[in-house]
Amino acid sequence: MTADQILYILIGITVAGYTVNTLLEWLNLRAQRRDIPDEIAAFYDREKYHKSLDYHRDLTRFDQLTSGLGVLVSVAMLWSGAFGYVDDLLRPLVDNAIMLALCFFGILALVSDLLTLPFQWYATFVIEERYGFNKTTPKTFVTDKLKGYLLGAIIGSGLLSALIYLMERIGPGFWIWFGIIAAAFILFINLFYTTLILPLFNRLTPLPDGELKSAIEVFARKVGFPLDNIFVMDGSKRSKKANAFFSGIGRKKKIVLYDTLISNHTTEELVAVLAHEVGHFKKRHIIFGYVLSLIQVFFTLFILSRMAFSTELSAALGGSQHAFHLNLLAFGILFSPISGVTGLLMSLYSRRNEYEADAFARETYSGPALASALKKLSVDTLSNLYPHPAYVFFHYSHPTLLQRLNALNNV
Ligand SMILES: [Zn+2]
Repeated sequence: MTADQILYILIGITVAGYTVNTLLEWLNLRAQRRDIPDEIAAFYDREKYHKSLDYHRDLTRFDQLTSGLGVLVSVAMLWSGAFGYVDDLLRPLVDNAIMLALCFFGILALVSDLLTLPFQWYATFVIEERYGFNKTTPKTFVTDKLKGYLLGAIIGSGLLSALIYLMERIGPGFWIWFGIIAAAFILFINLFYTTLILPLFNRLTPLPDGELKSAIEVFARKVGFPLDNIFVMDGSKRSKKANAFFSGIGRKKKIVLYDTLISNHTTEELVAVLAHEVGHFKKRHIIFGYVLSLIQVFFTLFILSRMAFSTELSAALGGSQHAFHLNLLAFGILFSPISGVTGLLMSLYSRRNEYEADAFARETYSGPALASALKKLSVDTLSNLYPHPAYVFFHYSHPTLLQRLNALNNV
């Protein structure tokens, strides 16, 4: 295939991806309904519900605008060969392939983040603010950004260096070795997320003794969940949205509850939410999820190994010679339809798991308490009650609220 043909395919994929997404968003907005379903009529007041519809409309339109601009910039850069131009500029300054790739992606990441910064600011301080979600102060916003840059730079440059090193050193067989590194990395993040990464952004305090703590411990003992510690996280620092999760792959599990979750749920509802999370563990979703993501990683790396050494790919991006980083970028675009399909399969699997975890919570603890927690969470986050089925199929990792309530009541 010639470089020109590849360029057309790259542009075609970029535009097609945007078109499919816009179509789904449009269908989803058209599916909005202003009536309130009986199941949750007691929780949603009319005004709040209409507010949630407006929130979705505003957010969708804003996202469409930003991603539309993003596509325009990407297509313009592809068409003009700007990526190759950046590569040509860097070459006289840096002569080592690893440093070259680091500088190249560093510049791209910085420029793209600076371009989207005003949009992120607007989404947080105007849209989220308008609907009363936002609690982030400009100071938190800026320090989050800086910590994010630093973390991204450390992790990103570490992985990228290893990848380029292995490509140069081993050739197309690099994918097996890098796959092993990636697997270890994913495992590491899973094991130490709560102890190493989360504390960089949030304060975690142990849940004090009391009714809630003993209720959780009684439940954990009953179902044989290896509970290590329960933490409360200051989620209220950023947003009124609430959540709960646990982390740790081995024998010791840490549960993290958002302070926002604790403040407006009863003890029964909180234990029911945790029972759902424990269900994911008991039904082996966590470990299967890990295995599936490993299969995905190795598959992706294998395809990459067939493309990383092509001179045509670099030329398609305007490069005057072969460069691993140009090929990585082209690969990212070429692979996106495939990752779209695998993502869709993962969502299907994830929605099935959510039903199973709900059923576990119903059997081991209480269906009504979970249902009531789900309703409250849905009201608090103003989540969409009538998403379009096509949109759910492509994007939802969880079934819709009404689907989950139906399953809880009927089975
Ligand atoms: Zn779940």
